[in-house]
Amino acid sequence: MKREGEQMAAFQGIIQPIWLKPSVQQELGKHLLTCYPHEACGILLGAAAAGGMYIDTYVPMHNVAPDPLHAFVPDPREWVKALYRNPAPVGLFHSHPSAEPRPSAADLSGLASLGPSFDVYLIGSPNSSEDSPLRLNGYYIVREQAAAGRERSSLREAPIYALLK
Ligand SMILES: [Zn+2]
Repeated sequence: MKREGEQMAAFQGIIQPIWLKPSVQQELGKHLLTCYPHEACGILLGAAAAGGMYIDTYVPMHNVAPDPLHAFVPDPREWVKALYRNPAPVGLFHSHPSAEPRPSAADLSGLASLGPSFDVYLIGSPNSSEDSPLRLNGYYIVREQAAAGRERSSLREAPIYALLK
């Protein structure tokens, strides 16, 4: 029998990949380009399994932010509809049309408003390479108990793999 400490150490050493169906990867790139120079956003459907998180569907949403060049706010009606999906959405995607695909301060403060079903956070930027229109970074949403029973959310980078079938 393993002691608790050993299990923790093993768990912390492994960051499981985020697996994307090739069609999802294509749709993310397409949506990014369609919305350019505005930010694109949408939700990701899939499931956790042994070996990581498997994303098989992307549901694009309209960005209704007052400043869509530098921010995203999913259309509230589309957002509410998405939250009632069964199974619930597992992730969020948005694009940084003119910046690196790294979480901004606004992205990090927005994590708190995502429901507990959200585990995956993807950010895409346009790519100048001909191979793919998309530069994509993937993160897991990590929730920790902070002071006074409040939850603190952060992002932990994870490798993204294409799911070949
Ligand atoms: Zn952002």
